[in-house]
Amino acid sequence: MTTLTKKIQMVDLKGQYEKIKSEVDAGIQEVLNSTTFINGPAVKEFQADLEKYLNVKHVIPCANGTDALQIAMMALDLKPGDEVITASFTYVATAEVIGLLGLTPVLVDVYPDTFDINIEAIEKAITPKTKAIVPVHLFGQCADMERIMALAKKHNLFVIEDVAQAIGADYTFSNGTKAKAGTIGTIGCTSFFPSKNLGCYGDGGAIYTNSDELAKKLRIVANHGQTVQYVHDMLGVNSRLDSIQAVVLKAKLKHLDEYATERNKAAAYYDKTFASHPKIKTPARAKNSTHVFHQYTLQLNGVDRTKLREQLSERGIPAMIYYPIPLHEQNAYKSDRYKKGDFPVTEKLCATVLSLPMHTEMDEETLKYITDNLLQLVN
Ligand SMILES: *Cc1c(COP(=O)(O)O)cnc(C)c1O
Repeated sequence: MTTLTKKIQMVDLKGQYEKIKSEVDAGIQEVLNSTTFINGPAVKEFQADLEKYLNVKHVIPCANGTDALQIAMMALDLKPGDEVITASFTYVATAEVIGLLGLTPVLVDVYPDTFDINIEAIEKAITPKTKAIVPVHLFGQCADMERIMALAKKHNLFVIEDVAQAIGADYTFSNGTKAKAGTIGTIGCTSFFPSKNLGCYGDGGAIYTNSDELAKKLRIVANHGQTVQYVHDMLGVNSRLDSIQAVVLKAKLKHLDEYATERNKAAAYYDKTFASHPKIKTPARAKNSTHVFHQYTLQLNGVDRTKLREQLSERGIPAMIYYPIPLHEQNAYKSDRYKKGDFPVTEKLCATVLSLPMHTEMDEETLKYITDNLLQLVN
């Protein structure tokens, strides 16, 4: 077995930074010189760049992805008692804001191949109290938005896309038209957490919408509910993207498609190596979506996952479990609505998934080292 000279990381932000260092450093220095830390020109510039990239009318920058979801639900006037349907296999933030606002999270299972929200399960969960669906484009590819939008239209529901893991992914409708993840529903919400596909060097997030009226309201909610200075017509929050983060995002947005290409190359290498292995299932591709591989997630069959992770770690290979505990089994989200066994796909995924290192700086030597070792340990 070969040895490796460099440290393998789940996400290599240093290598990526080295390539954009001069632009980022100069931009940050400019913010320092001008002291326009909040609402500086970089924020507006990045907002315009992202609107253009996504082909969406409005991008509203905010402080993080969790805030983006909360602001979206507040701007849609969702009220305590309203039911919001989302996936049981997701990062906690999605369900957290639903609970924080006193809304009722209604969890539904996901598909075993793509990890995305199960459309038949959404339909079954709709009641007269349902107000919104929150599909999560998990690990980097879109949920089946065409069918979700059809359901939403039929039942008069809002759709809030959680696009924290899938910025840049393209969804193709059955008539051939394409749209970027997050621009199809009523509102899209994303995160610029450093390890996300478009990550800044601190916290950041954004909300997208094509509605002028909603955009106005989203901006008001994100700014203390303020309509005119010191006039507060509704309850809001304080959620801003700062200028230094905007500088970083502006520089990285130009490379976002290349970053996705790099991630896809690594995914293709993993796919090829593990193809038709009896104990390793590689991630399936959704029919109507490109994949931006926020995570490359295997499903293991008949493997002691805890032991495997330890053995990989001893060989310098990090591997993560996204996510180890289903939401409906978390103490904070337990409800009379559900019991263990209600979401068999989610429960099985939580017990069998393993995410491998995935970032923009993967090289062949690293990929070979990871896959050689994994195959040797699993066999
Ligand atoms: C990261 C993430 C969020 C939250 O974003 P933050 O910027 O960390 O608040 C929400 N939903 C999903 C699916 C995420 O992966």
